[in-house]
Amino acid sequence: MSAILVYVETKDDQPKKASLEALGAASRLGGDVVALLYGRHARAAAAKLTGSGAAKALAVEDAQRTHFSPEAVVAALAAAAATLAPRAIFFAATSQGRDLAPRLAEKLGCAQASDCTELRSSGDGKVEARRPVLAGKAYTWIRAKNSTLVATLRPNVFAEAKSGGAPAVESMPAPAADLKSIVKEIVASASGKLDVSEAPVVVSGGRGLKEASNWKVLEDLAAAFGGRAALGASRAVVDAGWRPHAEQVGQTGKTVAPQLYFAVGISGAIQHLAGMRTAKTIVAINKDPEAPIFKVADYGIVGDALEVVPALTAAIKKAIG
Ligand SMILES: Cc1cc2nc3c(=O)[nH]c(=O)nc-3n(C[C@H](O)[C@H](O)[C@H](O)COP(=O)(O)OP(=O)(O)OC[C@H]3O[C@@H](n4cnc5c(N)ncnc54)[C@H](O)[C@@H]3O)c2cc1C
Repeated sequence: MSAILVYVETKDDQPKKASLEALGAASRLGGDVVALLYGRHARAAAAKLTGSGAAKALAVEDAQRTHFSPEAVVAALAAAAATLAPRAIFFAATSQGRDLAPRLAEKLGCAQASDCTELRSSGDGKVEARRPVLAGKAYTWIRAKNSTLVATLRPNVFAEAKSGGAPAVESMPAPAADLKSIVKEIVASASGKLDVSEAPVVVSGGRGLKEASNWKVLEDLAAAFGGRAALGASRAVVDAGWRPHAEQVGQTGKTVAPQLYFAVGISGAIQHLAGMRTAKTIVAINKDPEAPIFKVADYGIVGDALEVVPALTAAIKKAIG
């Protein structure tokens, strides 16, 4: 059975959680899993992949490039794929993964499946991937016609492997790539805040919050989870200029699958549900008992958000300590 290649994103010398999930998903399909890491700290990050499910790690330490360059990474992945002939190549469905996967699929002439939430190995060893379509109302199973399936995997859906040994780390030279663009500088928009698509807890607000200054109650609720929660928003409040687009959850925003999702003052329009209905536990707070969000919620509180949320925050602080 041919290997599965997984691109592992790093922050400094740390592999990112969403990539560890992709390695875990690959390891459960059987066969060898090969991780590819790219960047100045690739080797140091590869040394932290013990128990990730990877049998081998290719570390591409490119001293030339300080910033993430999709063309350079794709060139390295294509070179690795040429040697390995993998049956699948996985990325986390993060902004990097969404950038790289279609470029690589095009370069290799492979099929690509985006934002997958389930994987299986068919009888002939091919990898098949399930992904939501029609704003999450239906699912399709994708099987590549050719030998390799390129797929991005939704963060927070797949479990990490968390067992097994250390991968054999090999250095790989950065292949010469005819780059059409060079990233000169990256300017962070938010000061080290957790991204809504990767946070285990998401506190989202909608028009029911009435005005931008009322976000303080949601910030307090998020803070009660001690750095594990990110803020999200409906499109209505992003369009109103109350919140940045980076926080928008839904069809035209980000897709999230956290352990816990709070929908506060959000009606539950189908376009919003498309981005959050695979959350493990959904808590809805809305003053309208008929609001559609209650149909997908595991727990519902009918009441005024500005009264309910502070009481909830106090209770969570007491429970978490
Ligand atoms: C092509 C397209 C793409 C779209 N993409 C997205 C997307 O990505 N994400 C997205 O979110 N939307 C998207 N939308 C918009 C979507 O259809 C809805 O208009 C939007 O989600 C509504 O936002 P909302 O729930 O905040 O506002 P509303 O629908 O106005 O809901 C506000 C809710 O707050 C409740 N409320 C009012 N006061 C209180 C209070 N004091 N306490 C508690 N609850 C209260 C109300 O009962 C109501 O349910 C898209 C629409 C289209 C056409």
